[in-house]
Amino acid sequence: MTDLHAKPELMTIPVRNPADGAVAGSVPVDTSETVAAKARELRVYQPEWEAMGAKGRKPWLLKFQDWILDNAEHITDVLQSETGKPRAEASLEPPLTADLLNYWARNAEAFLADRHPKPHSLLMKTKRLTTVYRPYPVVGLIIPWNFPFANAALDGIAALAAGAALLLKPSEVTPLSAVEFVRGWTEIGAPPVLSLTTGYAETGGAVIANSDYVHFTGSTATGRKVAVACAERLIPCSLELGGKDPAVVLADADVERAANGIAWGGISNSGQVCVSIERVYVEAPIYDEFVAKLTDKVSRLRQGQDDARYRFDVGAMATAAQRDIVARHVDEAVAGGARVTVGGKPTGVGTFFQPTVLADVDHSMSCMTEETFGPTLPVVKVADEDEAIRLANDSRYGLSATVWTSDPARGERVARRLEAGAVNVNDAMVNGFQFGLPMPGWKDSGIGARNGGAEGLLKYCRPQAITTPRIPVQANEPLWYPYSRRKFRFALGLMRAAASHGVRRVGLKPRGGAR
Ligand code: NAD
Repeated sequence: MTDLHAKPELMTIPVRNPADGAVAGSVPVDTSETVAAKARELRVYQPEWEAMGAKGRKPWLLKFQDWILDNAEHITDVLQSETGKPRAEASLEPPLTADLLNYWARNAEAFLADRHPKPHSLLMKTKRLTTVYRPYPVVGLIIPWNFPFANAALDGIAALAAGAALLLKPSEVTPLSAVEFVRGWTEIGAPPVLSLTTGYAETGGAVIANSDYVHFTGSTATGRKVAVACAERLIPCSLELGGKDPAVVLADADVERAANGIAWGGISNSGQVCVSIERVYVEAPIYDEFVAKLTDKVSRLRQGQDDARYRFDVGAMATAAQRDIVARHVDEAVAGGARVTVGGKPTGVGTFFQPTVLADVDHSMSCMTEETFGPTLPVVKVADEDEAIRLANDSRYGLSATVWTSDPARGERVARRLEAGAVNVNDAMVNGFQFGLPMPGWKDSGIGARNGGAEGLLKYCRPQAITTPRIPVQANEPLWYPYSRRKFRFALGLMRAAASHGVRRVGLKPRGGAR
């Protein structure tokens, strides 16, 4: 057990495999002084990293990509050892990371290119306008335990590609994969602009205290604290927080496809995905058929502690506390009259919870209102599309949603009525793999977005406006000092000309007085 009264710098965090409790490794608890020293060191190397430009940084990102592909099996071993994920799920994170590296390496130069807005009026045409995107020197990245390697990559690579230095703080539950992430960067000989700091909430606080921008992924409760701490320092932050993602299953849906997709969207990673499907609204005519099919799909999933042989579909939950939340939601639903059609109980020696379907659920139950973050799919019968949309929107969260219908145009119409940062029609979670799309959380699910093409890099930059003369500058410029009536009239004349030109262009008659 960790002694919370020991001196922080003498403390280490033991990391355990939640599938069997075995110790997988340990990391130190960094003090605030250690974090400050790491940030200071990053500041020494960041200017050179920025000065390289996106073109100069590209080879390092591609080298890192190669390292990850070469070390994918080992990274997957480490991931499994601290998360209890089955091989099939853990092995997704290295290729996803490699794909992100490839995407940002190939596109960063274009995304970060200077822009030259046109001067907006005749009067302003004497200047050449340039917007330059300069990175925040140190980006602090605080991440959770559900995708310990991919979460570092999802938001960290964009920061590095933008020219920032990165101070990475993984979850105390799963820090070992982040150790591998930083080891890879060091092993390829890349500039020392990526640093790891480990510890609990206090270490996270020190990251905020020493960064110029913070990206936080984690719970809504912690996200609020992070936002307040950033506001105190007047530094920007982006927050990717909790969710309670609804699935809307319309009567014209392919029930087989919907049941498969919703089983995947709700149970994968033991339901511990920010965009897991957590509530299902099904139109009455297909409700019974859907529940039967979903129950059948979920009951076929193989659950257990996996090795490298891809023997299981569902693994352990990351922590006992998380499993207990799931158990409470299921117990409260059953007490309120819901029916467990499959699963419903903790199982195994570790923190496993059976993949579960709950039928005849009421929209007001805790399994429908609070984030569960577990392998449960509560299903509610609704009268029609309107009721499904109304209930789907009746949540404090707004991360993502899915719509299931045989008519994609109808699916898109429904999507546009849902209050969620992303909607997938006839699929689940796939928007997260489309890096050209933003992944924003609405309502209590966050502020800002990750990815989204150029926006994904520009969020880590401070825009800088530069004006340079387009014509030789006169010692005595026509408009400014010293002020005079003649210059004032000249300026008004130009404004009138621009105004009458503008109104003519929209087809209005110019007012009298414009010459
Ligand atoms: P958490 O909020 O408990 O912890 C996240 C990180 O914040 C950890 O590294 C932790 O050490 C750190 N931290 C805790 N208190 C802090 C403080 N006061 N100041 C600074 N840092 C602090 O979240 P968790 O339990 O690790 O992860 C689960 C949550 O993450 C779920 O709610 C899930 O929905 C959310 N999540 C969201 C996304 C997304 O993209 N929206 C992705 C993954 C997970």
